[in-house]
Amino acid sequence: MSAIIEVESVSKRFGGFHAVDDCTLSVEEGSVTGLIGPNGAGKSTLFNMVAGNLAPTSGTIRVDGEDVTGLPAHSLFSRGVLRTFQIAHEFSHMSVTENLMMVPEHQHGESLFSAWLRPGRVAREEAEIHREADEVLDFLKITHLRNERAGNLSGGQKKLLELGRTMMTNARVVLLDEIAAGVNRTLLNDLAANIERLNTERGYTFFVIEHDMDLIARLCDPVIVMAAGTVMTKGHITDIQNNPAVIEAYFGG
Ligand code: ADP
Ligand code: MG
Repeated sequence: MSAIIEVESVSKRFGGFHAVDDCTLSVEEGSVTGLIGPNGAGKSTLFNMVAGNLAPTSGTIRVDGEDVTGLPAHSLFSRGVLRTFQIAHEFSHMSVTENLMMVPEHQHGESLFSAWLRPGRVAREEAEIHREADEVLDFLKITHLRNERAGNLSGGQKKLLELGRTMMTNARVVLLDEIAAGVNRTLLNDLAANIERLNTERGYTFFVIEHDMDLIARLCDPVIVMAAGTVMTKGHITDIQNNPAVIEAYFGG
């Protein structure tokens, strides 16, 4: 296996505070890699840097061996690296199918501009994009929701739609930041099953921040543990859970 994402000695300072501090890790192509750690460990900040939403203070980030440090989100997006975003308020009145058809160009944030049509796709037949959306709905087994307004979906259904939106792009690595929060067990199971199928059947690599340890154990191998802005250890979840240093980081003082 080869690394699709490499983070080397990356730091991010906010004022004098090191949110991420000399962090080195890699994500292997084809893996579902977990990222866990106590609140404030720097996980989301690291994701923001990998996705191009935040520039590192120092260090290097590579995708496929190519230096992408400090490149904006749309450059990472065009390399197939993206994080999911909540459905923007502006699109909550639109149907699930319409939301899939609005493929984000620049994933800067949850604004109207983050979900505009990609230039390369504008010229394409709407019918073809519609067919792709139908295929995504079929894959995710949510065809029955196609005409539902996005705003009416449950928390878990929204997460499925967010996952579906990544399938409308040429995503290769998808970053998921705590998607299980507030999702009921049934839909969580659907989400997990879809992540597994996207990984095994479509070759997606996933990088997953999650507090839900059952979900981590089911989906992720390896698991990386971050604490105080840096990597503490990386390994199989069974070893992680029995690691005294990890237990100390979570529960100690
Ligand atoms: P995690 O996702 O692991 O809970 P974060 O990456 O969100 O951690 O945050 C790491 C630390 O950096 C926290 O102490 C947080 O308060 C701080 N932090 C995050 N973003 C900013 C910011 N924009 N400005 C100042 N401090 C920040
Ligand atoms: Mg976070």
